[in-house]
Amino acid sequence: MDRICIKGLEVFGKHGVLPAENALGQKFVISATLFCDTRRAGQSDRLEDSVNYAQVSELLKAETESQVFRLLEALAWHLAKEVLLHFELVQGVTLQIEKPWAPVHLPMDTVSVQIHREWQQAYLGVGSNLGDRENQIRAAIDFLREDALTRVVRVSSLIETEPVGGVEQGDFLNGAIEIATLRSPEELLELTQGIEKKLKRERKIHWGPRTIDLDILLYGREVVQLENLCIPHIEMERRMFVLEPLCQIAPYAVHPVSGRRVQELRQALSLEGDWEDKSRSEGTEKNSTNARKGF
Ligand code: ATP
Ligand code: CA
Ligand code: CA
Repeated sequence: MDRICIKGLEVFGKHGVLPAENALGQKFVISATLFCDTRRAGQSDRLEDSVNYAQVSELLKAETESQVFRLLEALAWHLAKEVLLHFELVQGVTLQIEKPWAPVHLPMDTVSVQIHREWQQAYLGVGSNLGDRENQIRAAIDFLREDALTRVVRVSSLIETEPVGGVEQGDFLNGAIEIATLRSPEELLELTQGIEKKLKRERKIHWGPRTIDLDILLYGREVVQLENLCIPHIEMERRMFVLEPLCQIAPYAVHPVSGRRVQELRQALSLEGDWEDKSRSEGTEKNSTNARKGF
């Protein structure tokens, strides 16, 4: 991706762990690489079609002067976030902050922290089968919208589906949501679990009835394998209630493990269902509870 670079912006600030640093202040040198598509501006030759680096520099200066952080890490994240939230064309930013007068009594040029942050495209699955299902799903989407680090890009229509997992319970409404987020996968899980909590989700029975369920289906092309978080969602390929709405909004999104597109996954699952229906009608499949596998 194209880059616009600001190098060596000198700003005075009061960031530091020592009280003297917070009182006296010192020089900080900021460099920012802005990742953005400059094709439009390249063709039109209009500043409105690009990122105004003078405005970015002003913002970096104003934010560095008006806030006080103890750590360069905190200042860097704050600045990266401000740039990504204020300048729509900026997809990602690499930010370096140097502290040439850092209170280290040893011969050295400078200390610095460098971070990279970018908007990530992610897909969530949402479901509800308890209470006012539609309103709860709408409320969950509103909570996502309220999060400062997340933008709701697209929402599928909601489909009515039968429960899976063997627990007797009401039908579900299911949907899929595309978001752009500055949150890491774990921070995104914190957000979705916080929303579930606000909407009174209780975990009494595994795969039991719920006011709301928000699952992270895909997070860019990342594969995450943590104790409490697995992305892509481990069951997504086997669930028509996930693939159907996801296919509405992201038919060509790629599952990073299988390398297959959502549309292909959906088709493969529906063929599997057809085959099972057929074998059942021929008397080879006895278990009728599998009749709508995936739903
Ligand atoms: P399923 O995960 O099979 O859809 P569920 O949604 O009913 O079942 P929950 O009780 O909502 O299950 O979640 C169980 C745990 O799954 C959570 O505590 C969470 O840490 C973990 N988890 C792992 N991967 C994901 C993911 N991609 N999205 C959401 N939760 C996940
Ligand atoms: Ca789930
Ligand atoms: Ca869940």
